[in-house]
Amino acid sequence: MSNEYHDAQPQETAETLPQDKRASAFALLPLITMAEAAMLLDFSPEALVMIDAVGTIVLVNEQAAALFGYSKEELKQRSLEMVLPERFHVAYAAHLLRYVSMPHPQPLGVSLDLVGRRKDDSEFPVDISVRPVLLEQALHVMGAIRDVSTRRRLEQERLQQMEQLVLQSTLINLAHDAIMVRDQISRVLSGNQGAAELYGWSEKEALGRVTYTLLKTRFPVSRAAVDEHLEREVQWEGELVNTHRDGRTVVVESRQVLIRDAQGVPKAILEINRDITQRKRFEQAQTAVHTELLSQYTFLQQLLDILPSSIYVVHGHDARLVMANRAAASIWGAVWPPGQPMRAFLEEHAIRIVDTQENPIAPEGWATMRALLDGETVLQHQEMILRPSRSTMPILVNAVPLSTPHWQSLGVPEHSGYPQSPQSGEPLALVIHQDVSLLKEAEYFKDEFIGIAAHELRQPLTVLKVAVGMLMRQTAQGHGPRLALWQQEMIGDLDVATDRLVHLTDDLLDASRLQAGQLVLHCTSTDLVSLVQRVVTRFQKTTTRHQMTLHADPPTLQATIDPQRIEQVLSNILTNAIKYSPLGGPVHVTLAAFAADNEVEIQVQDKGLGIPRHQQARIFGRFMRADNAQATGISGTGLGLYLCHELVEQHAGRLWFESEEGKGTTFFLRLPLVPPGDVYGILIEEDKEKIKRTRIHREPNRKSKNDAKSF
Ligand code: ADP
Repeated sequence: MSNEYHDAQPQETAETLPQDKRASAFALLPLITMAEAAMLLDFSPEALVMIDAVGTIVLVNEQAAALFGYSKEELKQRSLEMVLPERFHVAYAAHLLRYVSMPHPQPLGVSLDLVGRRKDDSEFPVDISVRPVLLEQALHVMGAIRDVSTRRRLEQERLQQMEQLVLQSTLINLAHDAIMVRDQISRVLSGNQGAAELYGWSEKEALGRVTYTLLKTRFPVSRAAVDEHLEREVQWEGELVNTHRDGRTVVVESRQVLIRDAQGVPKAILEINRDITQRKRFEQAQTAVHTELLSQYTFLQQLLDILPSSIYVVHGHDARLVMANRAAASIWGAVWPPGQPMRAFLEEHAIRIVDTQENPIAPEGWATMRALLDGETVLQHQEMILRPSRSTMPILVNAVPLSTPHWQSLGVPEHSGYPQSPQSGEPLALVIHQDVSLLKEAEYFKDEFIGIAAHELRQPLTVLKVAVGMLMRQTAQGHGPRLALWQQEMIGDLDVATDRLVHLTDDLLDASRLQAGQLVLHCTSTDLVSLVQRVVTRFQKTTTRHQMTLHADPPTLQATIDPQRIEQVLSNILTNAIKYSPLGGPVHVTLAAFAADNEVEIQVQDKGLGIPRHQQARIFGRFMRADNAQATGISGTGLGLYLCHELVEQHAGRLWFESEEGKGTTFFLRLPLVPPGDVYGILIEEDKEKIKRTRIHREPNRKSKNDAKSF
């Protein structure tokens, strides 16, 4: 567009025009009077203005004056420049000069961009047709002026619409979706590049062909139903299965819109199809995998449900349930829903986890939490489930940490509908509970029986021991008939056997008292060094093949202990050191005080059989004997170390050992010089309770590697 005043064609000027040609042009001009001109302007509906040859407005009608915002009087005898923007003045002057030299009717607005200026300085596009006239014998120019703002705006809008349409059609063509327009009987009216690429038919080839025949369309419902839906709802969406020109199946997500004309008559259908073939294939593969995993999971669940032990898998730091078998529900006495944290579940059902003495175990101490939080493999951990009814169930818990890959290999689909699928990196644990109520009951009866049997044996054994002793003494003093050598030997054997029987029944009685919590210590201040010395000396007398040494520092040491029980412990350890060093050898006993800790440590070292590594963790258990000891034929009951361990713990001390098979064993016995609470050197009942509880609360797995007891 130009803002210059210029003609559509190059015009001839007065200088270039021959004189005769100019004269004849003037001769042809209409001749009117001022009165006629004024009348013409007043009656015309158009905005008219009459100027003379130098551009002075001679006449102007109301419409023209109003167009520029002036009154007629304001415009009369003024230069036409008044209604032109200043920037056009020079061009206008030149143009007028040219025009008056060769006047001719000319619609100025054609192909020109003319601009008028109103009184308020606002500008507007105008269309001016000019016509030369001879007014009162002089050349004048009459101009009809039209405000073309509206027309220009409409033209502008139309242009923009056109541009938009061009843009839209380009976009449609470039769109990845297949876009087609079909008529009422499904013949292709147009199709974009996307349609050509998706189906292999160019727009030209497809034009006029029926879409569903061309594309061998399979509808999810009948075609008629789709048409009916379109007719009723104007649009339809669904999946269609089409066929590519080369026979390939193309699954599309189709969106169809019915287009009606102004009268509402259906004209065409716009169909936009998106290729979802890949997505569909992927979805199908995923569904197959999901189904497979789900069936594996169901199978796994069925297997677990058959098992009598309670099994569950938990994940996260709050032990949310992933899966549990049927037996788990009967152990807990409630169904634990997947996704619920263990604590919330227990609290909801008022279930508590306690130890064998019914003291609550803190959540960090539960085998399940230890496996989850510390990654610890907890085996045979003893817990009790305390239900709201106060009924208790003793259980053995095995808790094993798992890693997430383990979980995936279990075949549980990540999004299987289970509320919480473990995320990789989250702790995961498999927990197995074994109800040991029956075992506990049997053990109780066994303890009862042992207690009664030992008690009943004690009296006849005492009689036997006294009788044998008397027989030996009387014979030695020459009372009664003289005995043959073999008879004397027999009485000697009888004495040894009676001693062993007494020892055994004592151990059995102690064990059953310990089980029943009835073993009471009688602590007094004792010189531990002389006690150890006495025991060592006594034992040295029983053997010639072993060389016993004692190294004690300091030479005397007072400790508040039950001297009989500590002697029993030492005797048992020394008996073992001798017994399990069948080839003889040194047995070193060391006593050292740890003033800072207010403790004393006694070590007994031998160079005997040693204890096999795999049995060390259980050696303090009742009736526990190592394989190598049994294989050598050395007799024993497996009760001694159990009693030692319990007695030392009752003193609030510790007993442990280091051993290597074939090289020997060292036992370590640590005792507090004054047991906790024994301020006045007298152990009151309450303190004994405390010591007992200390013992009970210690958990075997958390202590040194070899001081665990079997359950
Ligand atoms: P036992 O009556 O069998 O000696 P204990 O409870 O005293 O019972 O000991 C348990 C087991 O520990 C023994 O049977 C033996 O296998 C092992 N044991 C104990 N002390 C020693 C030791 N000093 N050397 C090797 N093995 C030992």
